[in-house]
Amino acid sequence: MHLYDTKAKSVVPIVPARAGFLSVYACGPTVYRDAHVGNMRTFLLPDLIRRAAEAEGLRVRLVQNITDVGHMADDTGLGDDASRGSIDEGQGDGDDKVLAQAAREGRGALAVARAYEDAFHRDLALLNIYPADEYPRASESIPLMIDLITSLMNSGHAYVGGDGSVFFDARSYPQYGELSGNKLDQLRPGHRFDGGVDDSKRFHADWALWKKSGPTRTQLVWDTPWGAGFPGWHTECSAMSLSLLGDTIDIHTGGIDLRFPHHEDERAQSNCVTGTEVVRHWVHGEHLLFEGRKMSKSTGNVVLVSDVIARGFDPLALRLAFLSNRYRQQLNLTWESLTAADTTIRRWRERVAMWATGPSAALSTDHLEAMKAAFADDLDTPRAISVLRELEKDSSIADGTKLETFLAADRLLGLDLARDIGKAPAVVEITDEAAELLEQRRIARAEKQWARSDELRDALAALGFAVTDTADGQAVELI
Ligand code: AMP
Ligand code: ZN
Repeated sequence: MHLYDTKAKSVVPIVPARAGFLSVYACGPTVYRDAHVGNMRTFLLPDLIRRAAEAEGLRVRLVQNITDVGHMADDTGLGDDASRGSIDEGQGDGDDKVLAQAAREGRGALAVARAYEDAFHRDLALLNIYPADEYPRASESIPLMIDLITSLMNSGHAYVGGDGSVFFDARSYPQYGELSGNKLDQLRPGHRFDGGVDDSKRFHADWALWKKSGPTRTQLVWDTPWGAGFPGWHTECSAMSLSLLGDTIDIHTGGIDLRFPHHEDERAQSNCVTGTEVVRHWVHGEHLLFEGRKMSKSTGNVVLVSDVIARGFDPLALRLAFLSNRYRQQLNLTWESLTAADTTIRRWRERVAMWATGPSAALSTDHLEAMKAAFADDLDTPRAISVLRELEKDSSIADGTKLETFLAADRLLGLDLARDIGKAPAVVEITDEAAELLEQRRIARAEKQWARSDELRDALAALGFAVTDTADGQAVELI
């Protein structure tokens, strides 16, 4: 398998440190809200790596963390302005994403965190993403973090700052910046603190490993040798990954925005504490836009898996839409592309069910190998999908062969293509009212009035009919 390695800035062969076993650490969710479809695209990445590796006979161990403390509102937002270089972080309750949400919901912080963690697992299952082998929670890994920080202090990489927090001494790690390109001499002081100077730390690019808590913080606080406080987000991933996967980790994944400062800082911490290059390959997924815009709460442009389902789509249509684009290309998802993916996935399932009523035949190794090769080639999933489309269309290939090849391919794709096997096609009795709406929708689509077509789909859903668009026109099922 080959993958694009962010640090090497090129596609490189992935050779596991331990023959036959691939270790993967995936940065997981911050559990203070439902994951949006962009987050889900990033969470699909380790699943695709796992499937590609398993197709090559590797055994995969995947660890994905749950961030339930320490991710501050300020930790992100650097994405568009990486040169800013402010890695300052606040200390108050309001800045910790989980605590801020707990205050909004009037519930305890851990109750909120567990509720969104459950939602995260439900969303993963809806997208056929295999569960990780372990999901360590930051709030339950505090002793590991204290050990890590103690060790960094003993080796001169960390110090207690003027405000009682413990900081990493960025200048103690000369390789800082190799991952993201943000070298220390290019990072300018941040602007977060009014007055411009944060004299609690020695150097503006140092970051807090452990934050001393203020008097207002009553939850998610732990006692340490340096007083009461809570961990920095970057500390969590170093501590949990080293503890569960050891000093050598084959692949570390995350969204592209995590490259800096999260992963740059994590690399410095992990490498300094072990004295070795811990992560062999950093692999980042590009961002998802929705209808051409960044997803953000402030503009009301956030789409959840539940929104996709509410529109009558199969959630695996989302997975197919992701697979139709390579992970490291920015993807502009639209309702129209989801409609197309939904139509395709339903048609494939129908075809598979139909082929399954006839005799089986040996699968087409050519097609299957071509798909595996596409996955192994830096997860070229669009190419894998087009191989499947060619197979579907090829009238010289027996239906039994198509059936077996589709089923084998689904181990890579995870689209649940066998779902309709054995199901008798449902006979749907359409009411006059629904028939009228269907006719209006047919006309709207012929006139390319997509918004109107979507409205009519919703109106039909309200009457209990799910409509999908196939090559032969609209197909109707009971919801
Ligand atoms: P969070 O729950 O905010 O910590 O984010 C979880 C993951 O989603 C991180 O790896 C982010 O890099 C990633 N992510 C955030 N926004 C997007 C987006 N629009 N498209 C793809 N991935 C994203
Ligand atoms: Zn992380």
